[in-house]
Amino acid sequence: MPVVHVIDHPLVQHKLTLMREKDRSTNSFRRLMHEISMLMAYEVTRDMPTQMIDIETPMEAMRAPVIDGKKTVFVSIMRAGAGFLDGMLEIVPGARVGHVGLYRDPRTLVAVEYYFKMPDHMEERDAIVLDPMLATGNSAAAAVERLKEVKPRSIRFVSLLAAPEGLQNFHAQHPDVPVYTAAIDRQLDEHGYILPGLGDAGDRLFGTK
Ligand code: URA
Repeated sequence: MPVVHVIDHPLVQHKLTLMREKDRSTNSFRRLMHEISMLMAYEVTRDMPTQMIDIETPMEAMRAPVIDGKKTVFVSIMRAGAGFLDGMLEIVPGARVGHVGLYRDPRTLVAVEYYFKMPDHMEERDAIVLDPMLATGNSAAAAVERLKEVKPRSIRFVSLLAAPEGLQNFHAQHPDVPVYTAAIDRQLDEHGYILPGLGDAGDRLFGTK
């Protein structure tokens, strides 16, 4: 059964509302994306494995849990994934980073790959795929399809916003990959944009329109 986690924490919902506002500046949008990705990282890593190590407090010796950040790979889908990446790395600074470059053919809305670079030994690593917008689901599904070829230990997908059509399409192809999102919006428009959405996440992050 495909799993979708909607992160309904009030801080996440508040920041998402601010990001949706059309008159928000690039600077403010980017800062909010950074903040919201840190908050979402907290939920996405909730069941991360820990190991016990020996430490000494000022009072006595003890065994205490630590995560192995190096086993985590954040996989950023270019280019909007970059906006999500910095905040996640702030929470898991030891994580490795992979990149997938895909563009959407504007006519067919099908994802075409132009870049793919992952760390070595993916079979020992847990992949967390980042794309703020799960719209048609085509690029998300194509990125995960390609990622599965290098056999990470686990895969989860994180988006800020998802469309119902995109979730259905994605999970029809990858029912084994849980999705984390802050909201499931109403629908897609005829150009594959999410409604009500927040517009083009890449353009709003980088000020390119
Ligand atoms: N990509 C975006 O940036 N926004 C959308 O609404 C859909 C895809």
